Amino acid sequence: MSATRQQHVVICGAGIIGLCCATALRARGHEVTVIERTPEARDGCSFGNAGMIVPSHFIPLAAPGMPALALKWMFNPKSPFYIRPRLSVDLITWGLRFLRAANPAHVARAAPLIRELSLASRALYEQLAAETANEIGLVQRGLLMLCLSQHALDEEAHVALRARELGLPAEVVSGAQAAILDPGVRMAVAGAVYFPLDCHLSPQNLLATLLRRALTAGVKFQWSTEVTHWRTASSRVTAVTTNNGEIPADAFVLAGGSWSAATVRSLRLTLPLQAGKGYSVTLPHPRQLPHLCSIFTEARVAVTPMGSTLRIGGTMELSGLDESIQRARVAGMTEAVPRYFPDFSAEDFRDLPVWHGLRPCSPDGLPYIGRFGRYHNLCAATGHAMMGLSLAPITGQLVAELLSGEKTSVAIDALSPDRFG
Ligand SMILES: Cc1cc2nc3c(=O)[nH]c(=O)nc-3n(C[C@H](O)[C@H](O)[C@H](O)COP(=O)(O)OP(=O)(O)OC[C@H]3O[C@@H](n4cnc5c(N)ncnc54)[C@H](O)[C@@H]3O)c2cc1C
Repeated sequence: MSATRQQHVVICGAGIIGLCCATALRARGHEVTVIERTPEARDGCSFGNAGMIVPSHFIPLAAPGMPALALKWMFNPKSPFYIRPRLSVDLITWGLRFLRAANPAHVARAAPLIRELSLASRALYEQLAAETANEIGLVQRGLLMLCLSQHALDEEAHVALRARELGLPAEVVSGAQAAILDPGVRMAVAGAVYFPLDCHLSPQNLLATLLRRALTAGVKFQWSTEVTHWRTASSRVTAVTTNNGEIPADAFVLAGGSWSAATVRSLRLTLPLQAGKGYSVTLPHPRQLPHLCSIFTEARVAVTPMGSTLRIGGTMELSGLDESIQRARVAGMTEAVPRYFPDFSAEDFRDLPVWHGLRPCSPDGLPYIGRFGRYHNLCAATGHAMMGLSLAPITGQLVAELLSGEKTSVAIDALSPDRFG
């Protein structure tokens, strides 16, 4: 434990980000209370995701080409992307900021930072696996970006080139070489890009492990408790108001996922955030079990072996906090499987429960990590979109460093929650 002054820190949200913040803060000696609006037996975005740790995802969502692709997909009910048209000032402002960020200069600035965060997080996952006899199920075999067409493979080859320029190993392989890399499944692909540093794990096991470690370390949890208001005094937050009473503390962490923006609205803080709904379906007895995780490049579907099960996940629907399931989009996902893995059938997925989660998405594809200028003792830890699991351990470490008055191990000015003014 460090010699910094011990504080009482309240964390709003017990998803993967909140739990990683809790354990990192507790390891520095702080008293930590996590407030979570759902009961302890819960679900949510951090549980049913694809479980991938992805240094390969160094290009932010806001990138050139994305707006045109999004527009094309909008009109196909089975496509992986959809924005529910609605007159929402938040959505329109978010969209304009997304368009502004989707340029080469932003990607050039963001990519090295995402790379640094990803590699630091990956190292922390290795450490966690070592400390827990790998009960989180970390598998370090890499990821295949599988391409049906030569055109997609050529585009991915460009990404591979940029990855190597950033010092990330990436190899373009033929269909035959992909089959050698993953003998667990028969594929029908033109080729793939192999990212050997990517890993996968079981999110459920990870969350259970983190919760157990937090409890053992002395972190307190208040389940079924929702942060509704904040009490302030000049430039400090002094307490959170909840349905179970007021909880005073020295510092606060906002880790409320897609609900974060609404949670700080009463503080008049603007945090541009849209929920990006995604689905997953888990096959309990797959016909074949790949050894590696992969992404179907054209279909934008993530495929992850988890123990003896196989999970497929995907879609990005900007429909506000609506949690309904759009069956056509789920069908779009499951119908993609036999195109890449021809021994599977879309029927394999019929009647399986569909899981959904709301990813907290910032307009520029970067998370919000840092103190709010207006309230110095309130720290944001949200907006990780498609990389929340991947970046959770480093997010926890950075928040703990900040609230302990230490220099952060990664420069995070670009992640400020105030960056949109
Ligand atoms: C289909 C799919 C696949 C994905 N695959 C991957 C992947 O392979 N790798 C990866 O890195 N990421 C992946 N993600 C993204 C990842 O799941 C998210 O980025 C991550 O779970 C976000 O975690 P979080 O803790 O910020 O939010 P959440 O998990 O949503 O947690 C936030 C918590 O805060 C609570 N809360 C909110 N407001 C309040 C309040 N006012 N008071 C009290 N509690 C509150 C909520 O109840 C919730 O439990 C995927 C997502 C989806 C949907």
